[in-house]
Amino acid sequence: MGLDPARDLAAVILTHFHHDHTGGLDHFPHNRIIGPRANYEVSTGLRGKLMGCLPHRWPVWFKPELVATDGPPIGPFPNSRPITRDGRIALVPTPGHVAGHCSVVVRGEDVSYFIAGDAAYSQDNLRAGRTDGVTNDPATALATLRNISAYAAQQPTIVLPAHDPDAVRRLSELEVFN
Ligand SMILES: [Zn+2]
Repeated sequence: MGLDPARDLAAVILTHFHHDHTGGLDHFPHNRIIGPRANYEVSTGLRGKLMGCLPHRWPVWFKPELVATDGPPIGPFPNSRPITRDGRIALVPTPGHVAGHCSVVVRGEDVSYFIAGDAAYSQDNLRAGRTDGVTNDPATALATLRNISAYAAQQPTIVLPAHDPDAVRRLSELEVFN
């Protein structure tokens, strides 16, 4: 895409530390990398390996900036972690897929972008209230799906789950959740 990560990207945000979300870290050796502390704590060591993480494959330089969602509420989310000074980009807690999972909300002028990570595998699953097959805490995962839907009901929101094959189209066509 012609991007130089060190020059063109201010930061990389991890929603959680599962192996398929950390596999590209080698591309960002000079970037600020932010992730949720509560998920990091269950992603290291033997427990992390049992939970779908590959901490022994993380780059040797990997020292993420670990954050907690101890900031103000955003819509139905009881707290958040502002990433930018104006708070337009923020982490919100979306636990359930794994403990401590966070999503990224980008609040633009007319529309919000909800970068859901694995909180939902697809918009269809979100709409249907179907939790993912990995969670060992479906009640928490379902509460998260309801929070995301409630957020999207309060303002025009483009929902972007990491594994949703239709997300790129919705983003390019600015198709909001309804
Ligand atoms: Zn995952």
